[in-house]
Amino acid sequence: MEHVVYVGLGGNIEPRAQTLMRALKLLNGRDGVSVRQVSNFIQTEPVGGPQDQPKYMNAAAMLVVTLEAESLLTVMQEIEVELGRDRKSEQRWGPRTCDLDMLLFDEVIRQSENLTLPHPRMHERLFVLEPLAQIAGQVVHPVLHKTVAELLAAMKP
Ligand code: ATP
Ligand code: MG
Ligand code: MG
Repeated sequence: MEHVVYVGLGGNIEPRAQTLMRALKLLNGRDGVSVRQVSNFIQTEPVGGPQDQPKYMNAAAMLVVTLEAESLLTVMQEIEVELGRDRKSEQRWGPRTCDLDMLLFDEVIRQSENLTLPHPRMHERLFVLEPLAQIAGQVVHPVLHKTVAELLAAMKP
């Protein structure tokens, strides 16, 4: 069974763009994962964590996967580690080489200990919605019943 998945990528430790490129390559290299579309890389201000941390580079990608959501999350976390991420020594929303968040997995709505779908904060983050709208503007959020383009427009002053 093929699933359409949107992933948000971000990181704020140099080389940021190179790390995002490597993340995409590593994802695409995994069995059952095919990266089909990638947004531009955009530079964004840190949100939520310490304000004195470096700016982020963010992007969004569309994947077609034959994995189930839990298995894909495990793959994404393995790639984060491969790219130097060490959750234990991090502060929440603090600097990291690479964060891979599962934004949308088909129209799945779920809430388990490890995985909430859609990603619970995607609709309130410009750094997610701006790149996502480039590749998925007309995709509908299965809980909010709005398109990504509409969610983005609602965020802009
Ligand atoms: P945020 O979730 O606010 O973007 P973060 O990405 O910095 O914060 P992480 O440390 O990467 O947070 O992840 C914390 C936990 O979130 C992970 O252990 C993971 O199990 C859980 N999680 C729940 N839903 C998702 C999802 N849709 N995508 C990625 N991780 C998720
Ligand atoms: Mg995140
Ligand atoms: Mg994360």
